[in-house]
Amino acid sequence: MAFAFHILGTSSSGNCAVLRAGGRTVLIDVGFTWPRLSLGLAKLGIEPRQIDAAFITHEHGDHCGGLPGLLTRHPGLKVFANRETARRIGHLQKIAPIWQLFETGSPFEALGFKVEPFAIPHDAADPVGFAFGCPADAGGAARKVTWMTDLGHVTPVARAQAEAADILVLESNYDEELLDLSQRPAHLKQRIRGMHGHLGNLGALALLREVRAERLAHLCLGHLSKECNRTVIVDGHMAEVRAARPDLRVTVFDPLEDRAEDLS
Ligand SMILES: [Zn+2]
Ligand SMILES: [Zn+2]
Repeated sequence: MAFAFHILGTSSSGNCAVLRAGGRTVLIDVGFTWPRLSLGLAKLGIEPRQIDAAFITHEHGDHCGGLPGLLTRHPGLKVFANRETARRIGHLQKIAPIWQLFETGSPFEALGFKVEPFAIPHDAADPVGFAFGCPADAGGAARKVTWMTDLGHVTPVARAQAEAADILVLESNYDEELLDLSQRPAHLKQRIRGMHGHLGNLGALALLREVRAERLAHLCLGHLSKECNRTVIVDGHMAEVRAARPDLRVTVFDPLEDRAEDLS
């Protein structure tokens, strides 16, 4: 099976990506309820039982709310999470998947991938981003796919992971002005902007200005807020990134749209 990477959707109403390499198919987050997930998988011709494992970043519903639906169809699914995340999900949803526990910050091998779960600052028990070192396919080089959403600010670890990525999924959650204008209560606005909230458009841009992401071939901006962001605004911010790196592919994910195309 050739290397492929698809983001089925990424926003606060659900995150789920499909990564295929070395004959394995894994999901990054399962934030889609079953009808939505089954539709996304069908577009790719994937049966639930063909999924080898799911890797969960944290216990918020937009990242793991679809686990019960998927586990009903695929009870043997391996679910990778750290202990705190597994505990919260197991407790909240009364499901007992076959947990594969990892330690945040400790790389491990799984299904041919070299997985690096790294800490991200977010208001969850022990949230992580993932870097997947993928096995080389027949025609190409080994690639690193890095998933980094739901982070209140950029840490040195996150910065280093962004620099090492071939394909980077980066949060670009809110536009400052739209968040100010939104009807959200003040405490929620503060939480979103807080050190353990979400990365806004300016935060994402600051990171991209800072890093020497020489390996980066495809930048995916995700987890946009439906109410407080627009793809056109994020696209505008990316103009200088595109100018500096004309060869870089940049995709901005519309929070209202599920997709299926290969991003590799
Ligand atoms: Zn989220
Ligand atoms: Zn979250």
